Amino acid sequence: MLDFLTQERWALLTVALLLGLLIGSFLNVVIYRLPLMMERAWAEELAHAEQKTPVEPERFNLVTPRSRCSKCGHMITALENIPILSWLALRGKCSACGTPISARYPLVELATALLFLACALAFGATLQTATAMFFCAMLVALTGIDLDTQLLPDQLTLPLLWVGLLINVAGLFARLPDAVIGAAVGYLTLWSVYWLFKLITGREGMGYGDFKLLGALGAWFGWQALPMLLLISSVVGAVVGIAMLIVQKKGRNTAIAFGPYLAVAGLITLFFGAQLQTTVFSP
Ligand SMILES: [Zn+2]
Repeated sequence: MLDFLTQERWALLTVALLLGLLIGSFLNVVIYRLPLMMERAWAEELAHAEQKTPVEPERFNLVTPRSRCSKCGHMITALENIPILSWLALRGKCSACGTPISARYPLVELATALLFLACALAFGATLQTATAMFFCAMLVALTGIDLDTQLLPDQLTLPLLWVGLLINVAGLFARLPDAVIGAAVGYLTLWSVYWLFKLITGREGMGYGDFKLLGALGAWFGWQALPMLLLISSVVGAVVGIAMLIVQKKGRNTAIAFGPYLAVAGLITLFFGAQLQTTVFSP
């Protein structure tokens, strides 16, 4: 019986790891293409508003066209598309022209695989694991896109919020009333910070995507988690910010994306929220 159980557990962990590698590979595509798709949509709307006939655009979405080397146009073969292994085998270079391929691709795949593994370890063979994997995947994509473009697309933050509310109908991570209040208060908290900051300094400290992301996290974990989420993201943000000031000597006025810190806080809350809530955040 014990053997059977451990075998089942090994099977679960293996599936989680492989699934994480595959989804991570897809997230690379999302991170790269979603902002381009949004840009195209804006350009089309603009052309429409100015009553120009837009140039007939070639199909461009998450599945078409197939991935190519951005330098020489070499079509990425199936063999060159195996998560992590292909990048290692190619030594991080395009097989046709030798242009370096960013180490971020295998890193995104590795991070996703490890997060999926952590989900399986933390929640076992449950619906919680499946939804937690969705949660992790969305946060990885949002982090990558925010780092690249300082945007948190509605196409990702809003589904994250809705799914958070829906799964908590069954109370998967929080009671439904707590989740609904968490979504609203999460959004309004950063919205208020934004307007206060703007009134005082005349500058915009963060974007609307940040409000939606904290709203989404509130929907997943309930309003009780909001102080913890804000504290963790601020601490991580401060540490990284200071480190960047020292290393890169970036000006203090450089806008720093807040989304990645919220994402890290969301992941910490997913895996350690219950412990933190009982040990640190309650009297
Ligand atoms: Zn190439």
